[in-house]
Amino acid sequence: MASPDTKKRLPRKDLPADAHIETLAVREGLPPTQWGENSEALFLTSSFNHPDAATAAARFANEEEAFVYSRFTNPTTMMFERRLAALEGTEAAIATSSGMSAILLMVMGLLKSGDHVVCSQSVFGSTITLLANQFGKFGVETTFVSQTDVQQWRDAVRSNTKLLFAETPSNPMTEVCDIAALAEVAHAAGALLAVDNCFCTPALQKPVEMGADLIVHSGTKYLDGQGRVLAGAICGPDAIINGPLMTTLRGAGMTLSPFNAWVVLKGLETLSIRMAAQSANTLKLAQWLEAQPQVDKVFYPGLPSHPQHALAMKQQNGSGGAVVSFTVKPANGPVTVTGPATLEEAAMRLRQAAFHVIDQTRLCSITSNLGDTKTLITHPSSTSHGRLSEDQRLAAGITQGMIRVAVGLEHIDDLTADLARGLDTLNA
Ligand SMILES: *Cc1c(COP(=O)(O)O)cnc(C)c1O
Repeated sequence: MASPDTKKRLPRKDLPADAHIETLAVREGLPPTQWGENSEALFLTSSFNHPDAATAAARFANEEEAFVYSRFTNPTTMMFERRLAALEGTEAAIATSSGMSAILLMVMGLLKSGDHVVCSQSVFGSTITLLANQFGKFGVETTFVSQTDVQQWRDAVRSNTKLLFAETPSNPMTEVCDIAALAEVAHAAGALLAVDNCFCTPALQKPVEMGADLIVHSGTKYLDGQGRVLAGAICGPDAIINGPLMTTLRGAGMTLSPFNAWVVLKGLETLSIRMAAQSANTLKLAQWLEAQPQVDKVFYPGLPSHPQHALAMKQQNGSGGAVVSFTVKPANGPVTVTGPATLEEAAMRLRQAAFHVIDQTRLCSITSNLGDTKTLITHPSSTSHGRLSEDQRLAAGITQGMIRVAVGLEHIDDLTADLARGLDTLNA
């Protein structure tokens, strides 16, 4: 393969070297076509033509960077990759069909049978399943450790540990892990640190600046921002992204469709203002929730009551993000909610109270997604964490009384009114 210096490269856009994140979010990409379109073009094509056979050969031999086939690269997808890499501050990015396929690509591309991963036990549920079950089957072993106790990560590292994987803040407890401390543990062991930056996005948190090597995204969430498409990406050094990860993607095909890439590319243009507005809404909602007599506890990194508040403020650009969880006090009345017979009466009373608050909302959408401009409400213990045993849930702090709200752009007074309807009638 030709070295980057001699290889004919695709043109870059002429942007100021010190351009800020807001500027990069609307400007980074590829130069426009000969038609001078102002909005980025959507290239719905599976393959690309070559002027002659010799050029086709050079392009297949990787001597000339060009578009060949949309399983590998596509101009619209590349604009999304370049823009996201610019926002995260990494050399490169590679787009994938979903957040899960980004994690699949990372592990397939970087690890082999006999390698070991250390991962937070509080990461996204499907990530735990993928690592423990699917990759376990292929001989990649994962040790799951505490989200917040760095010593547990250090103790879990072995001579064959190749990857540390973290996600912060966690869902739904919003526990924050110390990215810089984990980077130190990873690098001392000769391993890489990957961070799932889905909840904060580069608008609030830049893991690379704290020493992370790879950033994983579910573009389905805040990058799109309006709940329309599935997408994913990995950001990192050129040598990894356009090395083993691109080779694996070419062969395995967990490619992002150009249409979805275009949607997420345009979503990035408003990322900073959405994250700022939705986080500001969330802080107000969290403060209001803390003052409600029927609310037991509020979990939000932006509140001084949060155990890692100081770390979150330092790591997340002074913001708590746009997801808040809270627990309600148990219902006093007769238990009417049906559920697994294994739940004790105390747990059923909590579930009944949580269901009541959720069912009294009229604005909030009852769905387990997040990262939408619409506010989404969910009961983690019976949905996203419904497959765990009650003991596993309780060990993670997720009680039947917990409600998670992924806050959108509605007016804060309308959101508090929507939740007050259920809270105020809880034991009325
Ligand atoms: C949703 C999510 C994923 C998975 O992303 P998909 O696009 O749904 O595949 C991974 N990590 C986190 C933190 C998520 O919230």
